[in-house]
Amino acid sequence: MIDHTLAPLPKVSHSDIVRRGLRCQCPNCGQSKLFRSFLKIHHRCPYCGMTLERGDGYYLGPLCINYGIAVFGAVAPLLLAGFAGWIPFMPAMIAAGIAALLLPLLLYRISWSLWLMSYYFCLPDELHANRPEDSDELLFEEEHRNGMNVER
Ligand SMILES: [Zn+2]
Repeated sequence: MIDHTLAPLPKVSHSDIVRRGLRCQCPNCGQSKLFRSFLKIHHRCPYCGMTLERGDGYYLGPLCINYGIAVFGAVAPLLLAGFAGWIPFMPAMIAAGIAALLLPLLLYRISWSLWLMSYYFCLPDELHANRPEDSDELLFEEEHRNGMNVER
């Protein structure tokens, strides 16, 4: 059985979060990679135990980053250049098609890492290492639950 006890860690700074995000490492401990295989992210960090894949639409962040980079960074400029006649039309369409198929796969891992980096850069107190209590729950989820308890 896997031990999901959260290991005590030193506080994590914004620069730590950015450095770990650019290296595709766990934002909480920086000791492990985010992925267990090419396209499978660890549900929990194998080193510190922090939940990395939280479900409930958490995948939408990486999806938006991936889609944004692929479309606005490659596909749309290639289509625009092809239609404007800046580059030959057919090679531009072929390149845009290849980019539309391959870039989402190639950007999948870095998209997840950039999402986690952005999320915890904006909300560093959500990192288990930066919290006084031994919890892996997100603070806003706790507030939501507390709010629901008050209504009862
Ligand atoms: Zn970790």
